[in-house]
Amino acid sequence: MELSAGVHKMSVGQPPAGRGAACLICKGICSGFQPHSWRKACTQCLCSQEDHAPTSDSEDDRKMGRLLADSCYAHLTAKVKGGDGLRVYKRNRMIITNPVVSRKDPTFNTITYDWAPPGLTQKLAILYMELLPEERRPVSGTEGALYRRRQLMRQLPVYDQDPTQCHGLSDAEAQAMMLFVKSYKEEALGVGEVALPGEGVAPRDDSAKHKNGQGALEQQGPPTNGTVGSDGKKSEYHCDRCGELAAAESPVVYAERAGRDRLWHPTCFVCAECGEALVDLVYFWKNGTLLCGRHYCQSKRPRCFGCDELIFSEDYKKGPDGQAWHKDHFCCWVCGQPIGAQCSCSQRFRSL
Ligand SMILES: [Zn+2]
Ligand SMILES: [Zn+2]
Ligand SMILES: [Zn+2]
Ligand SMILES: [Zn+2]
Ligand SMILES: [Zn+2]
Ligand SMILES: [Zn+2]
Repeated sequence: MELSAGVHKMSVGQPPAGRGAACLICKGICSGFQPHSWRKACTQCLCSQEDHAPTSDSEDDRKMGRLLADSCYAHLTAKVKGGDGLRVYKRNRMIITNPVVSRKDPTFNTITYDWAPPGLTQKLAILYMELLPEERRPVSGTEGALYRRRQLMRQLPVYDQDPTQCHGLSDAEAQAMMLFVKSYKEEALGVGEVALPGEGVAPRDDSAKHKNGQGALEQQGPPTNGTVGSDGKKSEYHCDRCGELAAAESPVVYAERAGRDRLWHPTCFVCAECGEALVDLVYFWKNGTLLCGRHYCQSKRPRCFGCDELIFSEDYKKGPDGQAWHKDHFCCWVCGQPIGAQCSCSQRFRSL
């Protein structure tokens, strides 16, 4: 990766997206998202940006494209035409059409999923969706789709991967951030793969698998039906999180970085820190545990309690509760005076 490439394009204070979006928390009070100049929050209602309706799908797809580019998961992205090497997420949407049995003309019932696990038969993908609680299924236009988009914002903040989205990084901090991003892509970032127990991902051999296009064939082992196969395959599989049995006919999630002897129930594939379902199966692997991007990054670098960005300078402020702050962000929301200066503003700090 060319380290200097992104630094040249550094611009401070790109306008935060989502201006004018309705607040999902305090409907009525806030007339639409008004971005604070550096906090990821609204100056009208003080709620966070993710509490306002999420940014556009295309922004999410660009962010995901950027995250997965230069990683083992680049095959989940595609080049943007005329985009100067930019990559966009090949988000796997799934449209299911079911005939509705009625007396007269046949009608069809169409369900669109904003995202479904890639590389599966539709049958397996539907089985996977059915294992999720209904309000978590990313069906277009539903609460589940909104949950997914808010988790994309929460778990994979764009300013954890793109220095141009951070405010006021020095050249040295931007360089440090690019090295950090490069190393987590190499050492931790992964995308879970859905399969039936025992048919989990083969150890990745990128050169062979993606050149000859036989990845799908290589992933298919003999079906597991509860008996020990001729290859001596285990007949029982247990979920790594809850320890319960994984049913043979029920899809599970494999994480390549965890090895193929570990698997998870779809609802158990969650961040060990926040307990949220790992959005689009994107995980970060650390010391034998699954984390979301946010919690992985802040286990490695302090995160500013004021602006929510990671801190790449060693010169930062530690607050009374052990929180970290950029020095100039350790200040009152309202008047901007340093915290502890006994200003007369009410103590309405954003709690993350
Ligand atoms: Zn607001
Ligand atoms: Zn609000
Ligand atoms: Zn489980
Ligand atoms: Zn988390
Ligand atoms: Zn800050
Ligand atoms: Zn104040």
